[in-house]
Amino acid sequence: MKAIVKTKPGPGIEIQDVPKPACGENDILVKILAGSLCGSDVHIYEWTAGYEWLPMPIINGHEFAGEVVEVGENVTGVSVGERITAMPRMPCGECTACRIGRGDACKNQIALGMRKNGALRSTCC
Ligand SMILES: [Zn+2]
Ligand SMILES: [Zn+2]
Repeated sequence: MKAIVKTKPGPGIEIQDVPKPACGENDILVKILAGSLCGSDVHIYEWTAGYEWLPMPIINGHEFAGEVVEVGENVTGVSVGERITAMPRMPCGECTACRIGRGDACKNQIALGMRKNGALRSTCC
């Protein structure tokens, strides 16, 4: 499949062939049906000061909608065929905030498309 990838410091991005992601036991695999660009994607593209921490290579994109095509064995509440979007900030699940159900206040959140590969991928090729 094709993906939009930030590969190196400096302005620009690349379109690369990447493998289909694996669906782990705690994951769901989503066929991306629509994606959009956020201001942070523009900052990543333009290489605005303050984004030097970005790990590379990384697949960009955290605003999307899609259809669930695989569900890991430990996942509940989501089924194959459902149409979804996601909160692009993933709480760690281990800190005090997370343990009291306040993942929104987690200081260790992982941002999809910035700390973990994101959603700007094709599903057609
Ligand atoms: Zn955004
Ligand atoms: Zn946390």
